[in-house]
Amino acid sequence: MRPGPGDGFRPAKAFKPPGLRRRVRRESLEARRERARAIARRLARAYPRSTCALRHRDPFELLVATMLSAQTTDLAVNRVTPGLFARFPDARSMAQASEGAVEQAIAGIGLWRAKARNVREAARLLVERHGGEVPRDLDALVALPGVGRKTATAVLSTAFGMHAGITVDTHMLRVNRLLGLSDAREPEAMARALEALLPRRGWGAYTHRIIDHGRLVCVANRPRCGACPVSSLCHSAFDPAAGYRADNDGVVPASAKGLSWLAWETGPAGGR
Ligand code: SF4
Repeated sequence: MRPGPGDGFRPAKAFKPPGLRRRVRRESLEARRERARAIARRLARAYPRSTCALRHRDPFELLVATMLSAQTTDLAVNRVTPGLFARFPDARSMAQASEGAVEQAIAGIGLWRAKARNVREAARLLVERHGGEVPRDLDALVALPGVGRKTATAVLSTAFGMHAGITVDTHMLRVNRLLGLSDAREPEAMARALEALLPRRGWGAYTHRIIDHGRLVCVANRPRCGACPVSSLCHSAFDPAAGYRADNDGVVPASAKGLSWLAWETGPAGGR
């Protein structure tokens, strides 16, 4: 007979990798909100120049660069966009470009065939529906091919200062889980949790700062808690299960090259 409840049988505990361990401690919503806002204030002091790392001169360039950045690094995108925008500087010229010309201009990044198709089609729809301008509207943006909610909220925030939602990428998901602000495992759920904790006007800046913090200090699997400005507010500070070792603290990681202000000033194509 198989053992069952009441026979002293206990199923083995499911293994959870460190990054997925539950980190949110019991605290009231008000206390968590206070902590989130204190974290945001300290990050603002630590990273006053954090900004979007994608080079762009106007909303159209930002939209295209953000579309190209899916599943590739900002630095890789910054390497191809100067050449792309020199040939196709606006929606009208991009809409009239041949597929081969756009493919050739962005061939250095991942998924370039699909991205070239989406960028051309999005440009065509911008001309057809919005006079060639990037609309200041979330629904109109997500109606474009290759534009999801994450891309749309990032463009609205950076290009127009509109806070339609918090943008959650891999750094935002990982670092906010470590901070214990939410246990969400999906970007959408994390965005909703953070939007309930942080004032709307600070959503965009918080995202840029967390991304820079994730590249410079709260490095994946090697957090530098001894160098962290928010360690006293973090639920994973100095936790070996989160990958912390004292050796981490003095190592400036390669990912620091992706810092938004450094990418802007010292990226391979130089300032624009
Ligand atoms: S204390 Fe450590 S785990 Fe927490 S945010 Fe800072 S670097 Fe990351």
